[in-house]
Amino acid sequence: MEDYDVVVIGAGLGGLSAAALLAKSGFKVLICEHTDRGGGCCSSFEHEGFTFDIGASIVEMAWTIDDLFSRLGKRTSDYMEMIRIDPIYAFVTKEGERFTYPVDREATREVIARLSPDDAKAWDRFSKVGAEAIEEVFGAVMSTPMQGLLDATRITLSNPKFLRYMRYMVQSFESTLCSFFKDDRVRASMSMQSYYIGLPPALCPGYAAFLAYSEHEGIFYPRGGMISIPAGIYRLFKESGGEIRFGSTVRRVLLEGRKAIGVELADGTQIRSRIVLSNINAKVLYLELVGRENLPGWAIRAIESYEVSIPCPMIMLGLDQAPDLQAHHTICYGTMEEMNSAYFDYFKKGKLPEGGMMIICWPTHADPSLAPEGKHALNIVTLAPYRLAEGSWDQLKERYLDIMLDAVESRFHIQLRDHIVTAKVSTPLDFERALLHPQGAVYGLNNDLFSTAMFRPGLRSRVIQGLYLAGASTHFGGGVPTTIGSGIAVSGIIEKDYG
Ligand SMILES: Cc1cc2nc3c(=O)[nH]c(=O)nc-3n(C[C@H](O)[C@H](O)[C@H](O)COP(=O)(O)OP(=O)(O)OC[C@H]3O[C@@H](n4cnc5c(N)ncnc54)[C@H](O)[C@@H]3O)c2cc1C
Repeated sequence: MEDYDVVVIGAGLGGLSAAALLAKSGFKVLICEHTDRGGGCCSSFEHEGFTFDIGASIVEMAWTIDDLFSRLGKRTSDYMEMIRIDPIYAFVTKEGERFTYPVDREATREVIARLSPDDAKAWDRFSKVGAEAIEEVFGAVMSTPMQGLLDATRITLSNPKFLRYMRYMVQSFESTLCSFFKDDRVRASMSMQSYYIGLPPALCPGYAAFLAYSEHEGIFYPRGGMISIPAGIYRLFKESGGEIRFGSTVRRVLLEGRKAIGVELADGTQIRSRIVLSNINAKVLYLELVGRENLPGWAIRAIESYEVSIPCPMIMLGLDQAPDLQAHHTICYGTMEEMNSAYFDYFKKGKLPEGGMMIICWPTHADPSLAPEGKHALNIVTLAPYRLAEGSWDQLKERYLDIMLDAVESRFHIQLRDHIVTAKVSTPLDFERALLHPQGAVYGLNNDLFSTAMFRPGLRSRVIQGLYLAGASTHFGGGVPTTIGSGIAVSGIIEKDYG
């Protein structure tokens, strides 16, 4: 006799979304979450009166959240307030030159025209292709299961426009961007978005270049910090009778042969269920919680072949006054080449970053309630290796903070040091310890072309009956909308299999 219909491992966005939909459909659902607050990478915490986000800092394609809430018969606005962010971001070159992209496409065209009149015309073409690709193609597959070649073929044939955009799937982000824009500053200003997929422009799949356009369809920040998104979904889950246990770590998936029959917690408690839904890194799920001994050789080789995604150390700063910034995000680096170099010359070689590339996020610009009156919260994010060639993150934490603050001031001409009232660094090791994300991976698995969509681990396990997956390791990869999409897709599969 099972205790629950579904046990969900992890209360990240994918797990929570699926859990809320399944609870609403009448399944008896329990979520076991390692931390004491949930939300995973889309979460926030308080420190000395400031609220800091631990990962995600912005929401694009927010219609996925509305889609989830409308499937639950509710309106997003009754559960969270999404603040519209405008301008989208400011770009700061090493020479200290700054320009800002507003949401409005025409106004953005004017910004680009000042840099390069030819690229202003290219912006019109880029926006047109981007709008259509997102509406007709990428948006359409966001919450649609893509379990294998059959699904991929069915989806492609269902809409002839897919073929028109196929070239962007099989070329790099860099090629897509360079096929539209000629000016180095314009190219550079739109290439940070490749790291929203976790890869440099040279390796990131070309479809992701349209993220630079998608932000012009509106970007948002939830009032109260990023944790307000999972908190809203959690509230709905509870209203449908769902249960959650915080501070409860799953150490094993219980099996009968190749069938999942529940989970075992770190304290030895066993919970029986018909279905186990994992919201954690797929490599950890299969190789540790299911166990190599329970997998066929081909499945072990397949799951081992995935690389985990990049880590992103974060510096959280409390300031005694507003920083000299113009936007929620300020993106700092010189050229697209430097974006590639950050990956190949630093990340791949285990070098501590020298502050050549970073995003400065200023959440109190949108929501002053995240800091004591008159004060401000900032996050500084970059890409860095998990394993450092010289020393460990625990040893080099302070040095890293110094290097990054030096770079902010000397290279990008933004003065912060004299106004810092509190500083906290979250290294890849801290991130791994906090969320059990292997190597501090921020997007589950790497997201190159051969680890995207149908090439990612299936939402329905191909080897363990009754085991399902959601979250950044599946389908469309990491991101607030994509992981919510995975939750919608997997709940649909489970309802079909067990409804
Ligand atoms: C630094 C950073 C910046 C980002 N910026 C953005 C952004 O601006 N916009 C955007 O859209 N996306 C962004 N993302 C990505 C986005 O936040 C994530 O892809 C998404 O939130 C992941 O959701 P998930 O469903 O995969 O679950 P996760 O967030 O991975 O959550 C998994 C949960 O499982 C729990 N867990 C792990 N192991 C166990 C276990 N054994 N037992 C029980 N519980 C367990 C963890 O504690 C965690 O709560 C960012 C991510 C990071 C880290």
